[in-house]
Amino acid sequence: MDSQNSTKSSLPQNLNRLPELARNLWWSWTLEARQLFETIDPTLWFLTNHNPVKLLADIQSDRLTRLAEDPSFLRQYSAVFRQFDEYLANKKSWVGTHHADLTKKTIAYFSAEFGLHASVPIYSGGLGILAGDHCKEASDLGLPLVGVGFMYPQGYFRQRITPEGWQEAAYAPFNRDESPIHLAQTPSGEACRFTVDMGNRRVTAAVWKLLVGRITLLLIDTDVPENSPEDRALSARLYGGDQEMRICQEILLGIGGVRMLRSLGISPSVWHANEGHSAFLTLERVREFVQKGSSHAEACELVRQSTVFTTHTPVPAGHDVFPHHLMDRYFTGYWDQLGLSRDEFLRLGDTPGSHSGFNMTALVMRLSAHVNGVSREHGRVTREMWQHFWPGLPTDQIPIRSVTNGIHAPTWISPELHHLYSKSLSPTWTQTCDDPAMWQRVMDVPDHELWAVRQAMKRKLMGFIRERARNGWVHGHLQPSQVLTRGTLMDPEALTIGFARRFATYKRATLLFRDLERLKVLLQDRWRPVQLIFAGKAHPADEPGRYFIHEVLSFCHDHKLGGRVAFLEDYEMHMAKYLVQGVDIWLNTPRFPLEASGTSGMKAALNGVLNLSVLDGWWVEGYNGANGWGIQPLSEQADVQTQDHHDGEQLYRLLEQEVIPLFYQRDRDGIPRGWLQMVKECIRTTAPQFCTTRMLKDYVSLMYRAATVRMPATW
Ligand SMILES: *Cc1c(COP(=O)(O)O)cnc(C)c1O
Repeated sequence: MDSQNSTKSSLPQNLNRLPELARNLWWSWTLEARQLFETIDPTLWFLTNHNPVKLLADIQSDRLTRLAEDPSFLRQYSAVFRQFDEYLANKKSWVGTHHADLTKKTIAYFSAEFGLHASVPIYSGGLGILAGDHCKEASDLGLPLVGVGFMYPQGYFRQRITPEGWQEAAYAPFNRDESPIHLAQTPSGEACRFTVDMGNRRVTAAVWKLLVGRITLLLIDTDVPENSPEDRALSARLYGGDQEMRICQEILLGIGGVRMLRSLGISPSVWHANEGHSAFLTLERVREFVQKGSSHAEACELVRQSTVFTTHTPVPAGHDVFPHHLMDRYFTGYWDQLGLSRDEFLRLGDTPGSHSGFNMTALVMRLSAHVNGVSREHGRVTREMWQHFWPGLPTDQIPIRSVTNGIHAPTWISPELHHLYSKSLSPTWTQTCDDPAMWQRVMDVPDHELWAVRQAMKRKLMGFIRERARNGWVHGHLQPSQVLTRGTLMDPEALTIGFARRFATYKRATLLFRDLERLKVLLQDRWRPVQLIFAGKAHPADEPGRYFIHEVLSFCHDHKLGGRVAFLEDYEMHMAKYLVQGVDIWLNTPRFPLEASGTSGMKAALNGVLNLSVLDGWWVEGYNGANGWGIQPLSEQADVQTQDHHDGEQLYRLLEQEVIPLFYQRDRDGIPRGWLQMVKECIRTTAPQFCTTRMLKDYVSLMYRAATVRMPATW
């Protein structure tokens, strides 16, 4: 099962630490380590989509023999390992310096998905990537966090677009040998296994370990021989099944996750539920306390004080609600162990709107004293949504805070801009990402340097698009007309607008096509052309979302639009990096107030890509009038048609009167001075505020600190 051995045996002695590096995702956010793997075999690096485990498995051994004698490669190798060892030694971390007592605690971070790198496909979108970035930053800051999630062998679906423009879902079997995971072992050295009762059956799970710098992620996998075929498939796919599959997955994550930690001898002080999927963890902890002799009320209070809950959903329909008959099927017998009757138990999941269902968010709201939304605006919406939990309390006093999301800058920065920041801001700029004074220096970067780098990033995106299309054409996956829809006619000089995210209808991917004639004028302008690049998946069960994709594809196929509209198939992290780094404008058109935060716009901003976005989610806090463009939405009471019309009009007006003229206004050297001024202002203001360094420090001081107090020493 473990390919590490096969690679190791054929590795030259002086390169024998390469597998160790490949199996710690630290390499993925460390430019020097990425470059080391790229140097080993640039073609293979490209063909494996930057997967070093696969690269080492597929590499020709004579190539390694030659590298083992190449002084320049060996120097590069030693430098990377010196940096790696220093990082792991964790001498002067922020937590060690400022919160030394926390270094001896453990924070368990539960999430149904983690987006760390494209080679570990256990995420679907924004929620997972936030979790992944959270873990990387915890590692960087020296926070002792352990992640709890799933090893989905089939991951999330891969998107295929038919020649007729319809999305199809395909599941690629996942090869554990090509992934940087290890089997987790118990303190006594055995492979970790745990069991959870599910109704009248018992499910067994194995545990995989994923190293993320200094921290570990533990991933639950039910694909073991002891289980029935149905149970083996329980953790096969992310968001793949019906409601019954889902409740089983959530029992595994919440209840199983606690048991897994116990069997590994881990005793967290803080339990953080990232979204409601893992809410059952609170019940299992209440059960543990009750079994040890606490009363139900005491147990609940102990759990409340040590549980942190982050909600991400601004609409009631976005929360998991399980019908009571399913709760009966899976929790009969369990509620006795909590010291509760059936009615008392079911009341834990009650909301005024849903007496027949068990609401996971309601459960964790009741059993967590530290709740937060993911932007200031989302905090407000969440307080309003849950105000019935605090009858009589004014909404602004409801104890739900907000910690605005951020992105892990070393993960999302383009290599070209990384070099420029190292030169102009600080050689160690990634270690002080939340320092506004450092980012102030971006104002002094010479325009021509910034412009040259931005243009290089854009050409790289175009190259990526072209090679993907060429590959599909060569291998017969694409018909000639599809090759054109993939952006092969894109012009690296033209103003390029990117829109890539989940195709949920509230994100309104087609808002820009409302007035087709008006759009055509912009796309067809001979001297100041505009081009559009779309990407994103619709959940397979989301019919309106699939229709949106089909509609965008019909514009890509429309020869009158001249190949200036492209749709890139199968959006995921790898492609996201090229997009957020390579376009000029990042467009976001959510229907207010449904974007809880959004993070792709932050990735774009860090890379000097200007946001053109509805003032919702993070952009309400990020926009200052001079660092991009904001569409002021109508109040949430306005009906949908009115909102769409209003936002669409503003979008066209901003493009026609501000965005396009500013981009094409050049000086004698062909440099858009005004544009670059705005780019610098965007980087200066957004980079320090919307990075995970700022975010994680907020979590430590507002949430984790508070959750560690008042607990008895043994917990
Ligand atoms: C950042 C990211 C997201 C989140 O994008 P939003 O626009 O914030 O919804 C989703 N998918 C991928 C692959 C990403 O990299």
